[in-house]
Amino acid sequence: MSENIQAIRGMHDILPDHTPVWQHFETIVLRVMAAYGYREIRLPIVEKTELFQRSIGEVTDIVEKEMYTFADRNGDSLTLRPEGTAGCLRACLEHGLMHNQIHRLWYGGPMFRHERPQKGRYRQFHQIGVEAYGMPGPDIDAELIFLCRRLWSELGIAPKLELQLNSLGTLEERLVYRQHLVAYLRQHFAQLDEDSRRRLETNPLRILDSKNPALSSVIEEAPALRDHLGEESRRHFDGLKDALERAGIAYTVNPRLVRGLDYYGKTVFEWVTDELGAQGTVCAGGRYDGLVEQLGGRGSAAIGFALGIERLIDLMGEQAAVREAAQPHAYLIRVGDDAEIPGAQLAENLRSELPELRLIANCGGGSFKSQFKRADRSGAALALILGHDEVRDGSIGVKALRQEGEQRTLSQSELATYLKPLLKL
Ligand code: ATP
Ligand code: MG
Repeated sequence: MSENIQAIRGMHDILPDHTPVWQHFETIVLRVMAAYGYREIRLPIVEKTELFQRSIGEVTDIVEKEMYTFADRNGDSLTLRPEGTAGCLRACLEHGLMHNQIHRLWYGGPMFRHERPQKGRYRQFHQIGVEAYGMPGPDIDAELIFLCRRLWSELGIAPKLELQLNSLGTLEERLVYRQHLVAYLRQHFAQLDEDSRRRLETNPLRILDSKNPALSSVIEEAPALRDHLGEESRRHFDGLKDALERAGIAYTVNPRLVRGLDYYGKTVFEWVTDELGAQGTVCAGGRYDGLVEQLGGRGSAAIGFALGIERLIDLMGEQAAVREAAQPHAYLIRVGDDAEIPGAQLAENLRSELPELRLIANCGGGSFKSQFKRADRSGAALALILGHDEVRDGSIGVKALRQEGEQRTLSQSELATYLKPLLKL
């Protein structure tokens, strides 16, 4: 006996009962991106490993332990993309889109990270990413946050989300701060866990982001980056906070908010919820002016964010109305051999006359009773019934499946006119 092959751990199928919610989500994303003038860019799922090493940085969780890396047949080291920022910038540099230009871009699709699978944390998951190039001021930072807020409200989850902000300053400011932080943490070395001791050498800011409760008091008392921000970083951050306040967007400044990726500076932000347990961050972003140069381009301003689709869809909860809206309007029952061809023609004509109609035509034969059962199980609102008599008379039976009522018989020629208002097409 051969065993059934199963999907890879942490990589999930999205079954047809769930795709309507994904499609609903995607429709809203398309609309909101267009409303702000963001254009879609489509990128490969596989990139050279070096791209991620150079952009994300060697000493991050992602590059240290989460990448799906493999040798191509010719020996090149390739990686399934763990995030989209690096690939997006690579594409724009490669195609000359970065010369003194302004771009508002977005992309979506699967990302891959070899993490311990748990609720809200998968090995293949999906993100929508947004990147804005060539705009150095806080106005674009604010625009990205406005865009997020509009998405949340269109998705019906705005009240569940809180905005957290921080400023990471410039690289130089961070280097000075880093020395203060490391000196402080060395004094409290005994209280650090193994991960943090390692990070003390490699990526000490990341310690501030530790989720280990045993570290919370050490972190609480640590020197704060905001006391080391220069004039320009401070002005930028104040500009953003002012724009948010004027737009009525509530936020909290979280001094422990640092991004796992090395290339961020100045503004960083996260949208968090307390309704998803430990995996409460649904969207994270920030400014990464330094990365363009790091990837070989000329210095350019850049800011972006990525949101986790699975976590957001979780937060949206049961979307009964969305699922209902995806169900068929009608199921065509055709009884007997002489109803087959006329039934197919009738179905085709209806679809031409009513382009919004969702109609399933029974295939595979079956008795009236078994076809009626299929009609009911399909979720359709109406059964259309075509048998020997109807074919002979040019008529059609119509029976409501979700409410009481007698079956009616109409002429086939008036069916479209009858269905249009009834199904609100
Ligand atoms: P976390 O701290 O949860 O590991 P992260 O800092 O690694 O998050 P980012 O790289 O900023 O996450 O990715 C942006 C968003 O993508 C996250 O806020 C989250 O919603 C989603 N995300 C990241 N990793 C996963 C994953 N393994 N499974 C599902 N969603 C994820
Ligand atoms: Mg992570």
